[in-house]
Amino acid sequence: MSPIAEIITIGDELLIGQTIDTNSAWIGERMSMIGIPVKRIISISDNPDEIKSVLADSMSRASVILITGGLGPTNDDKTKLTLADFFQSELVENEEVFQDILQILTSRNFPVSALNRAQALVPQNCIAIRNPQGTAPGMWFEKDGKVVVSMPGVPFEMKSIMETTVLARLAEFFHAPAILHKTIMTTGVPESKLASMLQDWEKVLPGNFTLAYLPSPGMVRLRISGTGGDQSALEKGINDLTGSLVHILKDFHFGYDETSLEETIGQMLSNNHYTVSTAESCTGGSIASLITRIPGSSMYFKGSVIAYANEIKTKFLDVNELLLEQHGAVSQQVVEQMAKSCRLQFKTHFSIATSGVAGPGGGTISKPVGTTWIAVASEKGVFSECFKFGEHRERNIVKASLAALNMLRIELLKETIT
Ligand code: AMP
Ligand code: MG
Repeated sequence: MSPIAEIITIGDELLIGQTIDTNSAWIGERMSMIGIPVKRIISISDNPDEIKSVLADSMSRASVILITGGLGPTNDDKTKLTLADFFQSELVENEEVFQDILQILTSRNFPVSALNRAQALVPQNCIAIRNPQGTAPGMWFEKDGKVVVSMPGVPFEMKSIMETTVLARLAEFFHAPAILHKTIMTTGVPESKLASMLQDWEKVLPGNFTLAYLPSPGMVRLRISGTGGDQSALEKGINDLTGSLVHILKDFHFGYDETSLEETIGQMLSNNHYTVSTAESCTGGSIASLITRIPGSSMYFKGSVIAYANEIKTKFLDVNELLLEQHGAVSQQVVEQMAKSCRLQFKTHFSIATSGVAGPGGGTISKPVGTTWIAVASEKGVFSECFKFGEHRERNIVKASLAALNMLRIELLKETIT
């Protein structure tokens, strides 16, 4: 039977909403990549009886149990003692772990306290896993062909232990089948439309491959997964399927494996030595913020005017007061003027402008909340589009920012090398 995993996250802070359990999400993703799916995630308090009962319960179902949390040096952390008790073992000092602790503390100029020394104690019947990022080691237990791994709760310590040791050791221990994923990034097309576009493609998908739709505001990620067989056949299969999928998606596809739209655009702009600027009303600078998240964006991004008030649109972007009066700020005429002026003032090849009703207030019958005009100006002229997003302010801003970047991308596709 193929192995399945369960995750137990331990910590009172997880149960009172003080810390969000991000460890499980990360572990779940990584485990699926090595072909050992996580079937259950449980969060519990730092309580020895609770830990023992939940662990026994998980071990009755799963063959891998991954535990995070409760390994700190202080009294509120109970996991290590409880595991020693559960696996009926004594705590003994592990010399290798002690040397790691010494090395970490001295490199940070910290004295070694008795509490730190106690962190080198591990149950005799576990394999201590070195923690490259901190002083609490991980612990690997084996019982009746099952594996229980305990790791610290601090996310970057847990990740480093998983990546340096645990994932590879689990794959080897369970002879996990080869598994491959490829994520195809799409934007500008809703999930329902994608589903109908891909209907025929999905019908002929070979049995060992699956397609998952992962929507988020403004984009849908498509993940192809393949399992079984040998690695190179799987690689070929996934590459062929990716090729045929991208062919159907055409311009809706903008990248692979978590590439962001702003990265894609950054690449296109810098490859072609083009520059861009933004004139933002409803997006309040969020397009500029997305663009400047990318290292090297100074090569192609010149700046932004956040023209929120009408008087700023008039003063800095030459939007005629009459135009505002006649058509309103959320209109094709105004947004096109914003883009054109911005491009001229900033002396950039392209400029993007937005003006919309982000909500929750401010909607009218003809321009309900979510109505957003976006324009892109280039030397060829200006073109604009009206979008009808939803009721939710934050999502509207994200969607408008992505739609604006996507309009620029489509424009760049027409005339550039990518
Ligand atoms: P611990 O190993 O229990 O001492 O955890 C140390 C810190 O790691 C806690 O204070 C939390 O901030 C963080 N942490 C613990 N568990 C999780 C989790 N499941 N997801 C994200 N952060 C966590
Ligand atoms: Mg804790």
